[in-house]
Formats: sequence, structure tokens, C-alpha cells
Amino acid sequence: AETATDDPLARLNPAQREAVTHGAGVAAEASPLLVIAGAGSGKTNTLAHRVAHLIATGADPRRILLLTFSRRASTEMTRRVERICRAVLGDKAATLADALAWSGTFHSVGARLLREYAEQIGMDPSFSIHDREDSADLMNLVRHDLGFSKTEKRFPAKGTCLAIYSRVANSGALLGDVLLKHYPWCAGWEAQLKQLFGGYVAVKQAQGVLDYDDLLLAWAQMVVEPVLAADIGGKWDHILVDEYQDTNRLQADILLGMKPDGSGLTVVGDDAQSIYAFRAATVRNILDFPAHFDPPARIVTLDRNYRSTKPILDAANAVIGEADERFTKDLWTERASDERPRLVTIADDTAQADYIAGRVLEEREGGTALKEQAVLFRASHHSATLEVELTRRNIPFVKFGGLKFLDSAHVKDVLALLRFAQNPRDRIAGFRVLQLLPGVGPTSARRVLDTLGETDRPFEALAETKAPARSGDAWPSFVETVAALGGGKTGWPGEIAAARVWYEPHLERLHEDATMRQADLVQLEQIAGGYPSREKFLTELTLDPPDATSDQAGVPLLDEDYLILSTIHSAKGQEWKNVFVLNVVDGCIPSDLATGERDDIEEERRLLYVAMTRAKDSLDLMVPQRFYVHGQGLGDRHVYAARTRFIIREMLPLFHATSWSAVAPEEQARQEAVKSVRIDMGARLRGMWS
Ligand code: ATP
Ligand code: MG
Repeated sequence: AETATDDPLARLNPAQREAVTHGAGVAAEASPLLVIAGAGSGKTNTLAHRVAHLIATGADPRRILLLTFSRRASTEMTRRVERICRAVLGDKAATLADALAWSGTFHSVGARLLREYAEQIGMDPSFSIHDREDSADLMNLVRHDLGFSKTEKRFPAKGTCLAIYSRVANSGALLGDVLLKHYPWCAGWEAQLKQLFGGYVAVKQAQGVLDYDDLLLAWAQMVVEPVLAADIGGKWDHILVDEYQDTNRLQADILLGMKPDGSGLTVVGDDAQSIYAFRAATVRNILDFPAHFDPPARIVTLDRNYRSTKPILDAANAVIGEADERFTKDLWTERASDERPRLVTIADDTAQADYIAGRVLEEREGGTALKEQAVLFRASHHSATLEVELTRRNIPFVKFGGLKFLDSAHVKDVLALLRFAQNPRDRIAGFRVLQLLPGVGPTSARRVLDTLGETDRPFEALAETKAPARSGDAWPSFVETVAALGGGKTGWPGEIAAARVWYEPHLERLHEDATMRQADLVQLEQIAGGYPSREKFLTELTLDPPDATSDQAGVPLLDEDYLILSTIHSAKGQEWKNVFVLNVVDGCIPSDLATGERDDIEEERRLLYVAMTRAKDSLDLMVPQRFYVHGQGLGDRHVYAARTRFIIREMLPLFHATSWSAVAPEEQARQEAVKSVRIDMGARLRGMWS
């Protein structure tokens, strides 16, 4: 156990210590700091130590803003900070680390700030937040209203429209340029898209809803205003950002707007791991960071990897070594091992699933918990066959980045009721919840929503609205529930229970498998209990949904052991003892969706690098010879695959090449023995009579 006299600094290497102690003690005057270093070199760890060190040397934890990439990363970071603080300060550390109230993603912190400054920016603080699907639906409505979907048959689909909109919003580039560079097949629609996006923005404002991008856009706009910028920036003495290579232009604008001279700013990242360019992230942010300031930011580089064994690191270094552009240098490690990463050639998807399930169990027998093992893949649907196999063998798993739970209709229904009660102008939520009522279809739902859109006393207006025909008793009970929830009388988390009670009869009417769905709703209630308020719950759930588990619903089986399944994107920053990477073949990595443009292909190379560098002790890259393609218009089919182009022939000695067949060797020998038998049965039968 750690005692209060342990010095955590003693465990760091000199470069890490330099980053941790930089400018500490003179709180508000710390000059900007950039830690740029390769995978597993302790960047995140250093950031946690830095926060703890700042607190231990007198910084006020309430005046520290810690920005991470996901909620999971933020929770993990706060825990680490608390652990380190405890080592230095003993028991009083707990309360200090608790006070680290500003920790989260850019989006969740943005949402909180927008509610706080709602009055100054002419926004209703009860705005609701649309997830990508809601946003696409709203985009579709506007598109429909403008008549683009009818008259212009080949107008881009709603998802494409949203992606274009989002890229423009996040990159600050001009629509025309974005179209030419990334969506050349849509370039002919520039005028219509402009009209569509204008309409989309107006509709969001009229309904008091924000999408993900608005959270950053509005925050960036606030800090353009000098008085607000000073007030917001003045909330914190220190702002620290992890995974800075994956931030976009808006996020950089926000940081620089809040801290124009960079004081108290620490950013940490690895350009070799930048994998979010497809969402308008730009590696320029991290590369250009030092020169923004005068004098330039202090730069600390770390080159010792503490995570992986040498053979794994050598292979990963070789893969990234072929990159066109690279700024961080090769890493070294003291972790010797004679186990090279495996390159496993295998027949197909089924054999791949079989191999992994078998290996995972074997490893568990050998003492490596399931939780210490992860299976990574390029696209979420790549794990489908494996999920079936794991379920068949009763191997529990959690899938990171999975949306299954929140995607289910009944969970969405309940959330829509809460959202509608919070903001009755939210048409997407209203449209969904109104149509749960018997006899209410799109037309009457639209009529009710139109009335609500025109008033600033929506609850009264709702009560005065004539009940839609055939809605019967359901109408008054609905009005009453919405008013009670919206009026805030019920209190949190009682509200979610109330919503569930209201929904139950509708659930039974609408779904045959109501009992199973009810269980999900009970779980939703449990999840809700972990949040302090409805706003916080709805915001966090929308921004960063909980992970799906092998259990039907979304609560991770916290105390149990389970295998991790994750897209490579969601595996960022994490590490496991054993890592398996699915489908390391051309067409998957690089994805055949990468357009073949150099930038796209380079991003796929970095993705493979990220995947490989998650492994501590053991790494298996799977190379199925055939894989399944979800056809775009061509139907699903198997295609023949080749090892990814990122592992070139010269690198092969760094790997242990094996092939594996789903059939065990003894079984294979037996089958071959059977096959090789040749009996002249004709002669034998004839012989009986000769
Ligand atoms: P990534 O680029 O993947 O995000 P990172 O640079 O953030 O990686 P960390 O996750 O902070 O690296 O650290 C990787 C591993 O190395 C962790 O297990 C961490 O505990 C360990 N580690 C970091 N620094 C040291 C150190 N000085 N001594 C021992 N172990 C260390
Ligand atoms: Mg990290």
C-alpha cells in the first residue's frame, strides 16, 4: 500500500518529471507546455501526475480544467489523480481530488458552459442536444421541406448532408472547398446545400436544440467576445488536454481564445496517432502549438515506451517508419521478450472467430483475465461473427463504442419523453413521443408541434390543445406527465421512474416482447441514478453513450470478468496484456472506404500503429484469406483478401508467421488418413465369387 511519504515523482523519468513540475507553484503563471511523444511513453500518466502535482503544490482543483477524449478517459484520469494525490497528501487528498469538478470531453464541458452563459448568448438554458441520428433526421426534415428530396432525385442522402455540414463547421473551411476536396460528387449541389444548411441552423434555433458541432461552435463564438473570453478563461488557472493530435480547428480556437497567451495551458499528444482527420481533426494543432506563443511553448518529448515488449515495439516502429510524414521519433523499451507478434493466416471470418475464442480461453486458463485481453477491429460490424461465437461459448464481453442499448426503440421512447418535457420545442423528440399515443400519426403530431413552436408558454399551450382524435384517455395523462416532468416538481431521478411508469402501458401495446424491454428500462433507471440531474444525464448519454455488453442491455457487468471488443478508434489511449486485431487485410486496413488519396491511406497506417501499440505482452494480427463484405448495392459477399499493404515483405522477419486451421492437428491427420484410403471395392466384391 502507498503511504503518505511515497514520492510519486521518484517513479518518473527525468523528461516526465520535467513535464510534471513545469511552472508548478506559480499557478497562474505557468507558460504553455507541449508534451509530444510516441505511444505508451507515459503521456497520459504524466498528465495525471501533473494535475496531482499542481494540486499538491497549492493549485485549486476547482480551477483546473481537464479535457479528455471520452468520458471513460476522464473517469480513469480522475481516479489516477486521486491515487497520486493520496500518496503525497494522505487522506485529505480525497476531498481535493473530488473538487476536480471540471473534467470531461470538450463537448460535455461545452454543454455545461452554454447552459451557464445561456442568458448572455440569447439561448434557452433548457436546450436539448441531438445525437447524430436525431441530427440527420432533422436535416432530412428540412431537406424535405425545401423540396430537395422530391425534385432532385440524386441529392445527397441525409447522412452525407450532415457529414458535409459537420466538416465545414469543425474545420472553418468554405463549403465549396470541402465539397471539392472531400465530396466531389456533391459539388454540383453547392447552392442547394448552402440553402439546406441555412434552413437546418434556423430550425435548430427555433426548436432550441443543439447538435454536437454546435457545442463547439457556440463555445468558440463565445470566446471571440473579449469579455466572455476573459470570464470563461478566467475560470481556470490550468487547462490540460490529452490526445491533442485529434482535436479540430474549433477546439484549438477555443483553447487559444480562452488563454491567448497560453498561460496554464498543457497539451499532450502524438502526431503518429492522429486518426480523426475524417472528423476534421487536424494534426496541425499539435505541430503548430509551440509557435502560437511568444516565447514559444516549452516542448517535452518522451522516447521510452513502458508499455510493450521489444518485439511488439519493433514491429510497430517498422509500420509507422514507412509513413510519409512523421514527427515523433522511434521509441525504445527495456522490456525484453522472445515472443514476436504473430501474423496469423487463417481461412475466413468463422475460423478467425474460432481461433480468437480458443486463444482467449487458453490465456485465461494460463492466468490472464479476460479483462486483460482485447480484440480490436477497423469497423464495428467486423466483430459480428466473433460476437456470435463468444456468445455460443459463454465468454462474456463488453463492446466499446457500441450503441445497441441506446438505439433500442423503447429506450429512445423514454428518453424522448424526458427531452420533450425539458424542451417542448424539440420537434424530433416530440414527433417520436406523440406518436406513441394511440390514434396519433404524423399529421396530428405535426399539428400539435406546430402549436407549441409558436408559443413561449408551451406547457399551457399543450394543455389547451384539442386532444387528437381517438387518443382517448392517453391524451390527458400525457399532458399531465409532460407538465409534471417539465415543471421540475418530480425531482431527479424520480423523473425517470415517472417517465417509465407513464410509458409502460404504451410499451405493452406497442411491443410483443414487453417484458424483456421492461428490464432494459429498469437498467436505464439504474444508470440514471448515477447522474446528479436530468440535464447532466441527457447530455452525457447523448454525447457519450454507455458501452454495450454481452448482456442484452447497457450496464457493464462491473464486477465480472469480460473480454473487451473495441473499434481501434475507441481503443485510443488504452492498453491490454493481449491484443488481437481482426482483418489486418487490404480492404479493411486500409479500409476500402479510404478513397485512395494519400492522406486517407496514411491515416489508415496510423490506425494500424495505434492498434499494435495497445499491446503489452502479446499481439496477434489476423489475416483471413477471405472476408465478408457488406456490399453497397452489390449484396453481401466473400472476397479474397491479402495481408495489409502496411506490412511489407521486409518487415516479415519481425513477425512470427503462422497459419491456423479451425481443425485440430489430430483431427486433420485423421481426416487426411481417411481421405487417402483407396480400396478397389469392385475387385473385392468380384473376388467373393471367383
Ligand atoms: P498512448 O499514446 O497510447 O496514449 P501514453 O503515452 O499516454 O500512451 P500511458 O498510457 O500514460 O502512455 O502509459 C503507458 C504505460 O506505461 C502505462 O501502463 C503507465 O503506467 C506506464 N508508465 C508510464 N510512465 C512510467 C514510468 N515512469 N515508470 C513505469 N511505468 C510507466
Ligand atoms: Mg495516452
